[in-house]
Amino acid sequence: DIGLAIDTAWREIGRPDLPPLDPAGHKYSRGLVHALAGKMPGAIALSTVAAARSGAGYVRVSTSRAIDGLPSAIVQTDTAILDDPRIGCILVGPGMGEIPQLLTLALTARAPKVIDADAIGQVGDAERLRGQDAILTPHSGEFVRLFGKLPGNKAEQALEAACRSGAVVVYKGPDTVVASPDGRIGFAPPAPAWLASAGTGDVLAGMIAALRARGLEAFEAACAAVWLHGRAAEIAGPHMIADDLAAAIPAALDLR
Ligand code: AMP
Ligand code: MG
Repeated sequence: DIGLAIDTAWREIGRPDLPPLDPAGHKYSRGLVHALAGKMPGAIALSTVAAARSGAGYVRVSTSRAIDGLPSAIVQTDTAILDDPRIGCILVGPGMGEIPQLLTLALTARAPKVIDADAIGQVGDAERLRGQDAILTPHSGEFVRLFGKLPGNKAEQALEAACRSGAVVVYKGPDTVVASPDGRIGFAPPAPAWLASAGTGDVLAGMIAALRARGLEAFEAACAAVWLHGRAAEIAGPHMIADDLAAAIPAALDLR
């Protein structure tokens, strides 16, 4: 029992069932991810490559300054056209830096969104996310910045945060927990400790955005990405860097 006034249903996160490829599909129907890029090109590259490797049909990034070294399939644009009804998920936060306008812009759009990294701290008041179709991906520092120090264990805190914000909350760390405001809680299986390195969270955010854009419901998209992220880390091995993690996503998707 989790001590909150809602029914809870928890599960151990396992291998996801992903929707099969539609033989008649096109790049938009496979999922369009629109990333709002800020100042740090490395994090933007990691998250957008991870989204593309996770099966998004199209990854677009709006950026004020061209980012070198992105695969040419990832389209860079200097305008953030967020009213495009084809957008399956907006990704904001990785590489954002202190540009609060990007979060404000993302919150004006109707599309589902993944809010990560600096964008989490800039939410300010969790109430601001009410009515949004959002997934938050805080590590403990980002969690406390937005929600303060909450009582209870990590699952209780994540669920409380989900209920306050109305968003699915992926509370990251060695013991990642995913909570939905409807009471669902997912516990991640153990993930390799070598995930504790720069950029791995950006990769996760891109993976969640891709699976959301591919049509998975928010809680399922978050759980599926968390599982695949851990398996990709096992495949990439103890000396991996975040780029290797993104490169290992296809092998993780192929695990049976
Ligand atoms: P971030 O803090 O945004 O860079 O994200 C780090 C990623 O690595 C998250 O997916 C965490 O869950 C994961 N992670 C961090 N530390 C550990 C650890 N000690 N063991 C397993 N996974 C971890
Ligand atoms: Mg991060």
